[in-house]
Amino acid sequence: MKNNKVEIIVVGAGPAGVSAAITLARAGKKVLLVERGDCAGDKNVFGGTIYAKQTAEIFPKFWETAPIERAITEQKIFLLTDYNSTQISYKYASKGAYKAFTVNRSKWDKWCSQQAEKEGVYYAPKTLVNELILKDRNVIGIKTEFEEFYSDIVIIADGVNSLLAKQIGLRKEIKDSDVSLSVKEVIKINKEKLEDRFNLDEEDGCACRILGGPLRDKFALGFMYTNKDTISIGYSISLDEIKKLKVKPYELLDELKAHPTVSAYIKNGETIEYSSHLIPEGGYNAVPKLYDNGVMIIGDAAMLVNNIHFEGTNLAMLSGKLAAETAIEAINNKDYSKSSLSKYHTKLKESIILKDLKTHRNTIEVIKKNIHTLSSLYPELACEFLEILTSADGVEKKVKYRKFLKEIIKKGTISSSIPLAILAMEKCLKK
Ligand SMILES: Cc1cc2nc3c(=O)[nH]c(=O)nc-3n(C[C@H](O)[C@H](O)[C@H](O)COP(=O)(O)OP(=O)(O)OC[C@H]3O[C@@H](n4cnc5c(N)ncnc54)[C@H](O)[C@@H]3O)c2cc1C
Repeated sequence: MKNNKVEIIVVGAGPAGVSAAITLARAGKKVLLVERGDCAGDKNVFGGTIYAKQTAEIFPKFWETAPIERAITEQKIFLLTDYNSTQISYKYASKGAYKAFTVNRSKWDKWCSQQAEKEGVYYAPKTLVNELILKDRNVIGIKTEFEEFYSDIVIIADGVNSLLAKQIGLRKEIKDSDVSLSVKEVIKINKEKLEDRFNLDEEDGCACRILGGPLRDKFALGFMYTNKDTISIGYSISLDEIKKLKVKPYELLDELKAHPTVSAYIKNGETIEYSSHLIPEGGYNAVPKLYDNGVMIIGDAAMLVNNIHFEGTNLAMLSGKLAAETAIEAINNKDYSKSSLSKYHTKLKESIILKDLKTHRNTIEVIKKNIHTLSSLYPELACEFLEILTSADGVEKKVKYRKFLKEIIKKGTISSSIPLAILAMEKCLKK
């Protein structure tokens, strides 16, 4: 690197930054990837699963060499009441083509940054970027704790809080309603026990989402993911909601872990990690301006998370790739102006990122308005219905159905919450 000058600087070696840096290096551009952690991934918190499609676009056949935990072959939804649960499971035969994998972020991000180095990226860990350097309203470099580096373009991939995007006015202070707090524990458990409890073959994995129970009536979702010999368990909750609650975030996690259905999976396990992190959840309406003269923002820094479908890393990687492609064109044309970099926005609009976020732009509001139905009523109805269906207790069925329907009507949300099974029962009663 001559005189601390490269063509591109990428700040942050999470999925977004690594994907951008590798795409640039592959096009022969001189790129510096700066990461504050001792190692990429050191400071990163995650559920969770990475998705095969977008990951393989950057790392073809990554599952053959990358440190993955398990390939997801089952997705479960737990509907919890206070003590009982209904579980919906979708299990698929992989046929060698996996859709998602659980990973440990500290191992995974480290591996990704090593691949970036192998591809020719200058990689600088243990380097905190304090601010962007501006000249005539163009971003021309970064100031780290130790020295300054210069470039034609800076790509900001510093995650959800993005102090750098705030510095240049591309991001405002994040609203509490546009972000959720995630708390998570990693629980160590004997591998065979884990496979028995989740009914998994070796190397197969399960992703669980949890509604209700201690999270009932809150804009919150629990999760459980199987790793090799650990289980990641946690929940995320809207920041404005947790601020209003009297309970501390870890207390709510303890309540979730103590639910009879959940505790059966994790019992006798040892908590080896506890962490919390923010997730951008404002969706389409919270996406900021994503470029300016000499600068673009990608991944969580750009609020590109689709929380309805649990997608973050894949959108981070795709946005990194699209920003890098825009930068390659800009460097080739020697035009780093905002008008040149606006092509990044166009590429995002044409991709699944902004298309999907736009599709869901009002979904969060609908869910928030119906959170009681979703997190409380559905789990109760599902459990009560299955209880009626499966209990041979000598009570006449018609009497039970009437009681059940009366309860639903009393609870008041018959039109919005009626499941097909109840419609079928109503017909049966009319006969
Ligand atoms: C509990 C939880 C569960 C999740 N589950 C899933 C899931 O199952 N699937 C999924 O796809 N997504 C999931 N996500 C979301 C996903 O983790 C993020 O969307 C993704 O990590 C975003 O990648 P990124 O590269 O934009 O940001 P990050 O991964 O946050 O990376 C930002 C990087 O920038 C570095 N950095 C920050 N500031 C500076 C600075 N000033 N100087 C130098 N370096 C800096 C950080 O150290 C970090 O390495 C989950 C998130 C959480 C919190």
